[in-house]
Amino acid sequence: MVSRVAAIVPAAGSGERLGAGVPKAMAPLAGEPILVHAVRALVAEPRVGLVVLAAPEGLEEQMAADAATCSRGVPVVAVTGGAVRAQSVAAALAVVPDEFRVVLVHDAARCLVPLEVVAGVVDAVIDGAPAVVPGAPVVDTIRELSEDGGSRTVDRSRLRAVQTPQGFARDVLRRAHAAGDQAATDDAGMVEALGLPVRLVPGHPRAFKVTTALDLVLAEALLAGRDT
Ligand code: C5P
Repeated sequence: MVSRVAAIVPAAGSGERLGAGVPKAMAPLAGEPILVHAVRALVAEPRVGLVVLAAPEGLEEQMAADAATCSRGVPVVAVTGGAVRAQSVAAALAVVPDEFRVVLVHDAARCLVPLEVVAGVVDAVIDGAPAVVPGAPVVDTIRELSEDGGSRTVDRSRLRAVQTPQGFARDVLRRAHAAGDQAATDDAGMVEALGLPVRLVPGHPRAFKVTTALDLVLAEALLAGRDT
């Protein structure tokens, strides 16, 4: 069975930390909006058959048109995002047709994610995992604040920094958003709140999130290296 995968891209954030003066997904990177790079990375996975963008109000058509330039014929639709990321994902999920049994949720800002990560997430969902997240080892030594004002070192070998795309059995993600756990900071956390397991697969340094101007410099350098 060919599994059809829908990729949701929440791109409705303001991106103030980047300071580009436009929503982060529209900030230029090597001459193209960040969003275009992100969509190109997703449709490199041939099982992705639909891209749904959550766009800032008023930018829906422009974002869909920009993304369609690099989607290799994969249909792109855009919905209006919500006030918070979870609402943007829920709005996009609402328009995913029933034929798509696997849903990826991918932050536009992780625009250079390699195919091996996207494929690994899809494989794990098809293998039966209700929720899958790519995770990267933590390189810094981490200290946890304690109640008394002190701190203690945490065993970093057991920690993973969560990246995207996160992958879900579509019905599981629908249930998670219907339950709408307010404390969850990502979609996998919402699934976890249902009492379901979240499977970790290997992440990749190139799946880093473009958040600050420094990240943009790194992304430009990586893309320049790819061209030469
Ligand atoms: O702000 P942060 O980097 O955590 O946002 C993660 C992703 O969620 C970004 O791609 C951003 O555009 C998106 N987002 C959204 N709707 C919001 C807030 C953020 O789609 N209301």
